[in-house]
Amino acid sequence: MPKICFLFCLLLPQFAHTQSLDRYTGDLRVDLEKRQISVTWEIQFSDLAAADTLHFYVQEAAFDFSLQSGQKDVPFEITEQKFIGEDKSIFIPTADLSDRKFTLSYQNSLDSIRNPNFKFRPNWTELNIYTAWFPLNIDYGLFTYELDVKTAGTVAGSGVLQAKNDTFSLVQNIPVFDIPLIIFKNKNSVTTADGSVEICYTDLSPAVRDTIKTTAEKYFNDYSEMFGSPDTGKLVLAVNTFDRNISFARKGFISLSLDSIFTPQKAETLAHEIAHLWWNAAEVGTWEDWLNEGSAEYASMLILREEQGEESYENAVKNLEKRSEGLPPIENIDKRNPQSNTVLTYKGALLLVRLEQKIGTEKMQSVLRKFYLAEEKTTAAFLRILENTAGEELSREFLVSLQE
Ligand SMILES: [Zn+2]
Repeated sequence: MPKICFLFCLLLPQFAHTQSLDRYTGDLRVDLEKRQISVTWEIQFSDLAAADTLHFYVQEAAFDFSLQSGQKDVPFEITEQKFIGEDKSIFIPTADLSDRKFTLSYQNSLDSIRNPNFKFRPNWTELNIYTAWFPLNIDYGLFTYELDVKTAGTVAGSGVLQAKNDTFSLVQNIPVFDIPLIIFKNKNSVTTADGSVEICYTDLSPAVRDTIKTTAEKYFNDYSEMFGSPDTGKLVLAVNTFDRNISFARKGFISLSLDSIFTPQKAETLAHEIAHLWWNAAEVGTWEDWLNEGSAEYASMLILREEQGEESYENAVKNLEKRSEGLPPIENIDKRNPQSNTVLTYKGALLLVRLEQKIGTEKMQSVLRKFYLAEEKTTAAFLRILENTAGEELSREFLVSLQE
C-alpha cells in the first residue's frame, strides 16, 4: 500500500462560518541567500455576513506584520491559538475593512519551518498549507489566487505559471484550499512528448527520471481515457528524493517524495496522486472526502490490475479487506477520528471494488466518468448517477454499505 498521501489530513473544524473568501492576490519575495521570505497579500472576501472579526492562521515565527484596508491602517490582534501546529492566530475587525478586503504583509525566516516534511532546503523551498505560509482559515471556504514570486530561483506550483525575468506569476482560477509551490535554486525539468506532464526535480538519475516520465504519462493517459480529460490541463509533477512521509496532489500539481529509486510502491503512490487530478472535488473537511480518497485509491488499483494482472489485484483487494476490518462506517465519520483517513481511503476503495463486482467494469467506469464530467461533488449525486446507470436497488445497497 502506498504511503499516506491524503488531500488534507489536518484536524478540521466542524462548522463553516458564513463568511466566504474570494481571491488571494500575493506578492512573494524569496531570498534564498538570507533564507527569508517577505510577502504581501490582498485578501478579498465575497461575503463577510455579520462577522465582527476575521480569524486567520499564519506561521508562528512570522514577524513585522502590517495590515491595511482602503489605504488606512487596521488594528489587529495576534494570539498563540494554533491550527496547523506551527502557527499562530491573527484577528482582524471587519468594521475597519472597506470593500470586504484587506492587505496583510509580513516576513519570515525559512529556517523557522519545523514540519520535518517541509523543512527548508537550499534547492527545494516548499510552501503550502501544511506550514501555514499564507493566512488561512478553511472555515472561510475555497478561493482562487494570483501570486507573483520574485526569486533568483525558479518556481513550480499549482496553477498557470508564467515567467518574466526574475518574477514568476502563478494564477489559479479554479477554487482551491491551498497555495502550494516549490522554489528551486536549480530546477531540472522534462516534459512528456505529448505535453501532458512536466516533471520537475533536483537530483534524479536519468534512468529514474525516464521511468517516472513514462509511468506518469501512461497513468495520465489511462485515466484520461477512463474518466475524460482533466479540467486542470497539464500536470506539473515535482519529485524529490527526501523519502519523506507525505506525497500530495492539488489542482494540476503533485509533490511526490521518493528515496533515490522508484519502487513499485512509489508507482502506486503516483497512481493514487495522479488520480486526484480527477478525484478532488468533494469537500475535504467532511466524510464526503471518501469520494476523493476512495476513488483515487480505487483508480490506482485499476492501474495495478492492468499492469500486473488479476492476481496482484486480488491480493490488493484482500489487503483492503484486512485494512477495513472492524472500521466504523464511512457516512458521517468525523474527520477528527484518527481512523478517518483509513476509513475514507481504503474502506472507500473497497466499497468501489465491490460495487464493480456487482455492476461490471463498464457500468462502473460509466458512473465514475459521468460523475467527473458533470463536475459533481457529493455522495447524493454519486448515488443518483449510480441509480440511473445500474438501477435503484444497487444504488440503495451502496448507500447501505456506506452506512455499515
Ligand atoms: Zn489521496
